[in-house]
Amino acid sequence: MSDKICRRIQVDLSGQTALVTGASRGIGKAIALALGKSGAKVACVARNEEKLKETADEIAAAGGTAAIYPCDVTDSAAVEKLFEQVLEDWEQLDILVNNAGITRDTLIPRMTDEDWDDVITTNLRSVFLFTRAGILAMMRKRYGRIINISSVSGLMGNPGQANYSASKAGVIGLTQTVAREIAGRKVTVNAICPGFISTEMTDALGPMVQDEVKKRVPLKRLGESQEIADAVLYLASESGAYITGQVLTLDGGLTA
Ligand code: NAP
Repeated sequence: MSDKICRRIQVDLSGQTALVTGASRGIGKAIALALGKSGAKVACVARNEEKLKETADEIAAAGGTAAIYPCDVTDSAAVEKLFEQVLEDWEQLDILVNNAGITRDTLIPRMTDEDWDDVITTNLRSVFLFTRAGILAMMRKRYGRIINISSVSGLMGNPGQANYSASKAGVIGLTQTVAREIAGRKVTVNAICPGFISTEMTDALGPMVQDEVKKRVPLKRLGESQEIADAVLYLASESGAYITGQVLTLDGGLTA
């Protein structure tokens, strides 16, 4: 990721604390770096401690502040404990980015109970767990930004992704409801739906499928993680104050 790209959108988040799930790689790492470079203190969450440390080190090298909180986002007790620790360490939470996610793609006749449960639990239950745990601090402060990373698969479906599409559509419903519940406390809740973004998740598709995807995307390329991070910065900033319950799609025109 180049600083040139990072400078495309500049927001000042100094004095704020952010938590990003799935910050060990891909889109979550780009989001954590962008928030950190914008002045927010960043709590980096994922399972891979070593990779999380790399993210935190990069934020520190750019002059920011970050700490790692290794955690399985599906574990309710661990999530509660994590929030106790973050609030003990930093006293406040202003920005929550629910980004951690997985795929277990296969056509519905072959989809196992485990494929279904793993994806729903990681992609949807985790958003519920982190939102429930984080929202009280935001309600007390009467300020907050919750940004949930959904997917175009949650908007239009995708063959082989019944579990994933259902989880991401669920994230949108959860976003809209929590936005309505919490708007009176000046907490905004929005979802971002990326299309195909170049990360390990889409690397797994292989070059042939990626070429097919590029043909289908009107802008004829995959998106970059930094482009999703830019959208997060906008929603997290003062400029995003009047946006809530919305779904922002960044997909190169795929769903247009
Ligand atoms: P990725 O490269 O596979 O990264 C996924 C992240 O989620 C990793 O940091 C991983 O960390 C974390 N994670 C997964 N399961 C976890 C668990 N049980 N506990 C804690 N952390 C967990 O994926 P990505 O492409 O960056 O995707 C990020 C988000 O964007 C996902 O929600 C994905 O569905 C969504 N999205 C991606 C695309 C795309 O084209 N790439 C498109 C639409 C939406 P550990 O393995 O270290 O735990």
